[in-house]
Amino acid sequence: MTTMAIASYRCPVCGQTHAADRPLWCCDCGSHLNLAPGCGLIRDQIEVGEASLWRYAAALSLRGPPCTSLGEGWTPLVRRNWQGVGVFFKLESQMPTGSFKDRGTAVMINHLLEVGVGAIHEDSSGNAGASIATYAAASGISCRIYVPAAAPRGKLVQIAASGADVRPIRGSRQAVTEAALAAAGESFYASHNWQPHFIEGTKTLAFELWEQLGFRIPDNILVPTGYGSNILGLERGFDELERSGEIAERPRLFAVQAANCAAFAAAWASGRDRFVPFATAPTIADGIATPKPVRVAEVLRALRGSKGGVVAVGEEEIAPALVALGRLGLFVEPTAATAGAALTRLLRDGTIGPDQTTVVVLTGSGLKAAERVGDLLGIRPGHSG
Ligand SMILES: [Zn+2]
Repeated sequence: MTTMAIASYRCPVCGQTHAADRPLWCCDCGSHLNLAPGCGLIRDQIEVGEASLWRYAAALSLRGPPCTSLGEGWTPLVRRNWQGVGVFFKLESQMPTGSFKDRGTAVMINHLLEVGVGAIHEDSSGNAGASIATYAAASGISCRIYVPAAAPRGKLVQIAASGADVRPIRGSRQAVTEAALAAAGESFYASHNWQPHFIEGTKTLAFELWEQLGFRIPDNILVPTGYGSNILGLERGFDELERSGEIAERPRLFAVQAANCAAFAAAWASGRDRFVPFATAPTIADGIATPKPVRVAEVLRALRGSKGGVVAVGEEEIAPALVALGRLGLFVEPTAATAGAALTRLLRDGTIGPDQTTVVVLTGSGLKAAERVGDLLGIRPGHSG
């Protein structure tokens, strides 16, 4: 791999640029930062013998080969019938820590190691915390994770098992973020929602779908969405393929949210490209219960630009989707099952046609929340469901 020029971050609020040559998570003005557009990818640059996202190393904004990898990426893309329609399911649930987060974490941690990061901390509803704690352990750096006290126990256990310092916080998801922000002076805030290199990692999802579909793009991609890192990664990846001349069109991107906590659905309905206040209620889809996303304008722009949209599914739609996925051999957590519920909706209302190529991204394994899945399906120890 050739050494790339030092990447730069740009602030969407004050316009300041920052060289990505030291650990940075926000601008001096307090805004988030975005990575400048990447160099792109042509198919001859793919390292075909590398069965991980590092097959696309040539297109990643890093100085050299990874210091730390757990074999993340190159997840299966399987075809199943959903209500009589052939659909592809992308099994991001089969990442090293059981969720899609490893794609972003691996690239973010390797960037941070390259620029000399020390101890880190992060806040998470569970999956990102587990991912970052795991990669921190693999990299030999100390890590503290702030989590909602009510997060599924399996996720908390997974974080603790990596040796990270787990700090459960009572209250809302936002309270957990506030606790992590307050600790920003103590160690580096390696937030997957703020640090721009996380999205540099999730863009490899676009490359993989393109390659696994025989160097073609699908018509539609459905993604469970909390902060929107997969939507932004997909947009970034397809943009690079388009600028490289590898594709001529882009897929429609559909962000799937739980109606009980749907920031993007609220903004979409208002027709604005910024955050609008909305009411929240508890949801079984804990991984996407995001009351205040960071890159609201960017995500909405990506969705509108792709001619896709936002689908907000009700709690009563999630369990049937979870059951249907399980019967197809796809054991996922409730958060991921929202995408199945959205697919049902979009097929029924004709937004997605049966002859189109559609990909449903399954973001997290059912093992992440096995107890909750059991409760949802009415499965009790010693009894069959
Ligand atoms: Zn700024």
